[in-house]
Amino acid sequence: MDLKLRYLSTRGEAAQLAFDDVLLAGLATDGGLYTPLAYPHVSPKDIAALAGQSYADTAAQLIAPFLTEEAAREALREQTKSAYATFRHRAIAPLTQIADNLFVLELFHGPTLAFKDLAMQLLGRMMNDVLEKRNLRATIVGATSGDTGAAAIEAFRGLPRVDVFILYPHGRVSDVQRKQMTCVADENIHTIALEGTFDDAQNILKRLFRNQPFRERVSLAGVNSINWARVVAQMVYYFTSAVSVGAPHRRVSFAVPTGNFGDVLAGYIAKHMGLPIERLIVATNANDILARAIATGRYEPRGVTPTQSPSMDIQVSSNFERLLFDATGRDHAAIRAAFASLEQSGAFDIPAAALAAIRAEFDAASVGEAETTDEIARTWRDAGYVLDPHTATGVRAARARLAQDPATPVVALSTAHPAKFPEAIERAIGKRPLLPESIAARLEGPERFTILENDEARIASFIAERARAARA
Ligand SMILES: *Cc1c(COP(=O)(O)O)cnc(C)c1O
Repeated sequence: MDLKLRYLSTRGEAAQLAFDDVLLAGLATDGGLYTPLAYPHVSPKDIAALAGQSYADTAAQLIAPFLTEEAAREALREQTKSAYATFRHRAIAPLTQIADNLFVLELFHGPTLAFKDLAMQLLGRMMNDVLEKRNLRATIVGATSGDTGAAAIEAFRGLPRVDVFILYPHGRVSDVQRKQMTCVADENIHTIALEGTFDDAQNILKRLFRNQPFRERVSLAGVNSINWARVVAQMVYYFTSAVSVGAPHRRVSFAVPTGNFGDVLAGYIAKHMGLPIERLIVATNANDILARAIATGRYEPRGVTPTQSPSMDIQVSSNFERLLFDATGRDHAAIRAAFASLEQSGAFDIPAAALAAIRAEFDAASVGEAETTDEIARTWRDAGYVLDPHTATGVRAARARLAQDPATPVVALSTAHPAKFPEAIERAIGKRPLLPESIAARLEGPERFTILENDEARIASFIAERARAARA
């Protein structure tokens, strides 16, 4: 069975591409996001057969149908094996039960202690192999609210074919997050502290991708959560965890701490591949654009409020465009109209039928600062388990779901190790969690970064002067 799956842009004005090209492209040239022409199907029998397989083998099996080229599929097993060998836990993504029908899926056992490693370690290997095969260099530019940058740097440092430029909001990431990005000696890594918010960084990134001459000059490639390969890599742990709690014979709900909508979109993809998911619960912090959009039908970014869960301090949830595309019946014109309205008047209204389709699959909850602290304290008291503040928003939303539907298990995704956010933990439970030793040792060297103003032209010239692809 060779599906030869290809990808189209949500906005309908860019060429259809094969997986390897989508992997390098990131954002489509029309400003849209690449999405597959169809979702590959996994049968209940295939799902049942995943029980007992290694995580790397499961990943290779589930991801293969998304690849377009046969050769890429053959390389995949080796790539997943090597990507997940960097993890500190044998199960890669283990589950822990903290209450009746409430499970925490630990996605923080990779090299940078956040769930981004699960996708990024694989993405780095996939990109490197494609560049080798084509004898090309690439420049990766990423915007980060903290964890993506560290995960990208860890996945790409030292690779001969790739230079990495990471923009993070100056002063708005935790010390551990910053040091993971700046205590890196590799010459191909350039960390930029942007004088602005994460949304400013993401906006600059989007404009660089739409700047065709710049894009070609430096062979721009993207690794942000809009990169389709990341979404696909994240789909895997929905399957492994659902199987652990009884799928395909039992339906499962997921609660997902959400920022850019990449992680929870991966759950939606898993569901549309055939995984019996009951509800997908979007948990946001005080930056609640998604909760508001799902509750009111109006997608309207507001100012970003800094919180104790900084990786979710986002008001423009890029991957939501992929969901909206499906929810409108894949209507390119509706997507173009929505995002034109967002650019011109700062908001759009989700068409009624699309909103109904979204509400049929998703719940959303916004969890405030005091509730987050209370949840960390409660879970510590009741279960002796320490949640990081991002995870706490998901667990809080999961408990609300269980109050309504106690019979369906809920898996709450734990997106970061608590030691990444020690102040928040100390506030809640009166003690500081320790970093795993292997991680702490890496954060002791000198820090390397450049502070730049929030200006697209300045950032573009900084990158073009340093990217090796621009000189070749
Ligand atoms: C990135 C991140 C999130 C948000 O994930 P999205 O895919 O952007 O929705 C949540 N928690 C942590 C710790 C993160 O690093």
